[in-house]
Amino acid sequence: RAREIARLALQPAATQDGVRVEVAANVNRPEQVPAALAAGAEGVGLMRTEFLYLERDSAPGEDEQCETYCGMVRELAGRPLIIRTLDIGGDKQVPYLNLPHEENPFLGIRGSRLMLRRPDLLEPQLRAIYRAAKTGPLSIMFPMITSLAELRELRAECERIRQQLNAPAVPIGIMVEVPAAAVMAGQLALHADFFSIGTNDLTQYVLAIDRQHPELAREADTLHPAVLRMIQRTVQGAQAATQAGRPCWVGVCGGLAGDPLGAAILTGLGVRELSMSQRDIAPVKAALRACDSALLAELAQLALDSADADSVRALAARLQAPRQ
Ligand code: PEP
Ligand code: MG
Repeated sequence: RAREIARLALQPAATQDGVRVEVAANVNRPEQVPAALAAGAEGVGLMRTEFLYLERDSAPGEDEQCETYCGMVRELAGRPLIIRTLDIGGDKQVPYLNLPHEENPFLGIRGSRLMLRRPDLLEPQLRAIYRAAKTGPLSIMFPMITSLAELRELRAECERIRQQLNAPAVPIGIMVEVPAAAVMAGQLALHADFFSIGTNDLTQYVLAIDRQHPELAREADTLHPAVLRMIQRTVQGAQAATQAGRPCWVGVCGGLAGDPLGAAILTGLGVRELSMSQRDIAPVKAALRACDSALLAELAQLALDSADADSVRALAARLQAPRQ
């Protein structure tokens, strides 16, 4: 039975009534790509580039990064690759970057906030990405976006570098992981080609619980209906922009995507791409295949109407057991 689930994991995921959900992998290092493909990933939905900067004494230069991204493009052979720009700060620190100490690093200069202040980091990374874009498909994703102004500034920087390099245009998307971005999704979607919802950070910011807090982290439950309502609002914002002629698709790359019940609820909410760690791919595909979209929509509505995360979790009983 486990072998059957692993075999089916290599097939695309669709509900009983044929709604396709793209299942991709989160990777921290390029070496993880072959194993992700072998586990059934249809592409890379989140490449966390910060791991290229960790455990060394200086930042990787443009050429080194370019080689890394080109290697991934080659390995993926035309499949999607979403490269997230450096998301340092918060829980991830890099000594040689000499970032000032902050009292509240999760509410401080992290992710795109740092990149907008550090052209010495942003420029070589974007140049490396655009050079790699000449060799095959990829997308750029900016983390920790809070305002439209940040997105516009980053897009302008992308365009400047693209022209310098005479590189092809690539889709530019953002992580939705700050409540303000979820609430303002309708307007952000007019300037983004896609959203990928980061449920790990979104949960800590919606619930005001540090995701690493030794005592509270367990209560930072991503299935909390308040988090799910933020996700619903994000999907609705993207759908409105799409209907207005500015297509913006929505994926999820936070931990919720890799949980079978979470994946079912997300699909019911209208999410069509799920990116997760490689080990979660087979069970998530199996869970989605066992359901039809009417059940998933009903599940999503019940989850939104629930009072707390435990009541949402109890909805797992309604999921059909994966069939052979
Ligand atoms: C997230 O916040 O959900 C996410 C996918 O990003 P990271 O875990 O790298 O912060
Ligand atoms: Mg995050």
